[in-house]
Order: sequence, then C-alpha cells, then structure tokens
Amino acid sequence: MALYLHDTLRARKLAFEPLVDGKVTMYLCGPTVYNYAHIGNARPAVVFDLLTRLLRRSYSLTFARNITDVDDKINAAAVETGRPIEEITARFIKAYNDDMATLGVLPPDIEPRATHHIAEMITMITGLIENGFAYEADGHVLFDVSTYAGYGQLSKRDLREMIAGARVEVAPYKRAAHDFVLWKPSTADMPGWESPWGRGRPGWHIECSAMARKHLGRTIDIHAGGQDLVFPHHENERAQSRCAHDGQPFARYWLHNGFLSIDSTKMSKSLGNVLLVRELVKTVPGEVIRLALLNAHYRQPLDWSEETVNAARRMLDRLYGALRGIFVPAEMRARIDAPPSVVAALEDDLNSPKAMAEVFQLARSLNKETNHDRRQELAAALLSAGELLGLMQNDAEEWFAGSDDGEMSVGDIEALIDKRNRARAESDFAAADSIRDQLAAAGVSIEDGPSGTRWRHSA
Ligand code: AMP
Ligand code: ZN
Repeated sequence: MALYLHDTLRARKLAFEPLVDGKVTMYLCGPTVYNYAHIGNARPAVVFDLLTRLLRRSYSLTFARNITDVDDKINAAAVETGRPIEEITARFIKAYNDDMATLGVLPPDIEPRATHHIAEMITMITGLIENGFAYEADGHVLFDVSTYAGYGQLSKRDLREMIAGARVEVAPYKRAAHDFVLWKPSTADMPGWESPWGRGRPGWHIECSAMARKHLGRTIDIHAGGQDLVFPHHENERAQSRCAHDGQPFARYWLHNGFLSIDSTKMSKSLGNVLLVRELVKTVPGEVIRLALLNAHYRQPLDWSEETVNAARRMLDRLYGALRGIFVPAEMRARIDAPPSVVAALEDDLNSPKAMAEVFQLARSLNKETNHDRRQELAAALLSAGELLGLMQNDAEEWFAGSDDGEMSVGDIEALIDKRNRARAESDFAAADSIRDQLAAAGVSIEDGPSGTRWRHSA
C-alpha cells in the first residue's frame, strides 16, 4: 500500500515520496493567538492530526505547528482589553492547546513561536534584499513580486491579471500593488525589535518561512493549512522561501482543508455565529466533535449543524456499544493492527469517511460474531483502528454513563431488561417479546447467554 496525497500546486492526487527515505517533515500554519479557537480553526488541527498519525506508522515524522504571537489583531486585542500582549498570547496559547487536546489532537513535535524567531526572519529578509528580491522603503521592507516568475502558480492566479484587476489603493512605499510586507515599522507603543531597517516587526508570511527553514530545512515535505491560506499567505511563503534558497523547492506537497460553515452560512463575527470550541465542549464530548469533523473528506466543504453533531454522537454510541463488555488483553491489543481496509482508505488522500465506513463494517462483524476469542480479536482490531483515527479510546461503560442525549439511558435499558427477565421467569412471553421490540426500536439489541442478558446498541 502506498500513500497518495492531493497537492494543491500540481492540482492532483500524487504518490507521496518524501525528500529523504523514511523521514517526513511537515509544517502546519497554526493559530494567531488573540482569541479562542472556533470550530473552523479546529478543522485543520484535527484533519492534519489524523495525517500525522497515519504518517507515523511508516515514517519518522517531524511535525511543526507554529504559533503566530505577533500580529496586528493581537495588538488590537491588547488595546481593547488594556492587558499586556504577553498575557494575551500566553492565555490563548494555553487555551488553544487545551481545546485541541479535548479534540484528541496530539501535540506537535515542535511548536515554534514567531516572537522567538525574529533573528531568523531578519537574516532571511537581509538575504532577500542583498539578492535583489526585496527592497526597503520608508522603514518597510517589501518583497518584489516581479522578481519571482513562479508567483501565482500555487493559487493559480495570473500576476498580470491581478495587476490589471487591482482596485486597492497602493501604499506609497510600494513599487507594485502586490509587493508584500516582510518588515514594517513599529511605533513606541507597539511590539518591535531593532533591525537594520529601524525598530519594527515582521509581516505574517515571513514568520512561517523562517520557522519552517530553521526547524525543518529548506525543502519541507508537507505544508498544510486551511484553504483560505493558499492566497496570499502560502503563495507569499513560497515566493520568499524559494528566492531565499536559490530557487530550491519549498514544499513538496501542499495540502489544504476545505472550509467549514455553520447552518449553510459563513461563520463571521458580524453574523454572531462564531462557534467556539470552548463553548461547544460544554455540551458535546470532544470525541463527538472530532468525529463530526472527520465524517467529511478534508478537502470538501463541511456544513456544521445540530444534525452533524447528532450523527457523530449516534455513530460513537454504536461503536462503543459494539465494544461494550469485551475485555481485550493488552498483548492482543498490541499485536492486532487496524484492518488494512481502514489504513488503505486513509492512505487514499486521507479518505476519513471511507475509513469510517470500514470501521462500521468491522463493528457489524463484531456484533454478529459469537465466538469469544474471535470477538476479542475483532474488538482489538476496532480499538487499533480507533487509535489511528483518535477515536474510541475511552472506556465503553464510561461513554454510556456520560451520554444523556435524549436517547434511552443505560438505566432505562437495564430496567427494561430486568422487567423482561421477570416476564420470562413468569412465562409471560408476549410481554417479554414486547419489551425486546421496544428496545430494538430504540436501537438496542439484546442477547441471552449463560451469564445473563447482554445488550448493545445495534450497529
Ligand atoms: P487563523 O488563526 O485565522 O490563521 O486560522 C487558523 C487556521 O484555521 C488556518 O489554517 C485557517 O485556514 C483555518 N480556518 C479558519 N477558518 C476556517 C473555517 N471556517 N473552516 C476551515 N478552516 C478554517
Ligand atoms: Zn503560515
């Protein structure tokens, strides 16, 4: 089996080949820390967490997800709240990591912060100026887009058309409208660092180029982010990194996730429909949110609604129901891998919906199986698939103890089973059958065995 990934630059699915055999470097653009993460921000974190889990099966992976902790939005938040910048960024870095952990996102190997890499940015900018790719004007340093012939390739934009269509007023210090800022001056009340161009701060794009270079090298295997980052962020990162590195490729594969909307509407502050992960987890388990995000293919748009959440919850009910009451010895758990069909689905450009369909196939086989040893093996395979997907790692009993979503509660189910057993003991088979039907209608199947009646959610 081989891994295939869709590369935005070449606009197709390709067999994945890392630069160095057996090793993979991956960079994901992380959060700008001035607010809590919303469910849209969680999508790249979750889908690319799944990719890291898949990559780690076959490669030695170095995964960096940065923190943008210098940005005008952060400065604005500091002014608005009257709090120091460091306090704001520290608070939202912690909040981001806590929220992502709730969604089963594993910590990256490296979490570089922009403010810790100012020297690297200054070095990169200096080199770009020396080689004629950037120019200084009015305390700013700008990247001269006309020096890079490949500009527009990633986002499929034609620079000439862009220039012709530009309606923006061009800042007086720019030679051309699309030249972008590498460095800009800071007033005394703004965060700033001394540089050859005076006290200032970096532009957003140079941050990622400098951090990727420092931690992962000149050419990285995978660069990922949300689809809104293709232009201008990634187009600009690519231009400046290639020019800073003698034209060497910057990223071998560009991966972008589709956008998440809410009830068919774009999430936006002005519409008041921004759904924060922090709020959502108060009523929905993190695991349900994770599955809801993985139920759509990462490149497709995803519309978030009450039904998206309920569907994911019901799926987990069925999966934990299948696992319930089965003890899997640690040795067996370690020995039995996720089924090849699940791995193959993920290796096909991270087809998580297909992988989930395969997981359900396995759960159905488990529900039907009566042989004890075989049931244990199937449960072990299901748990291994869950580990790969970042799902089903909680105790099944705890899952049901915690679920209170209007479906029949564990207490109700067990009370009905007791009632049915009493009816059977009194040979009132009509009553017993009627209770069995009532449970079946609620999606609960029961099985009578030597150690009593067992039940599970039907898969
Ligand atoms: P930001 O902090 O705004 O730079 O966003 C962090 C990450 O979330 C980026 O990779 C964005 O592309 C991604 N993102 C933001 N909004 C959405 C959305 N509605 N759907 C999917 N991804 C999003
Ligand atoms: Zn970036």
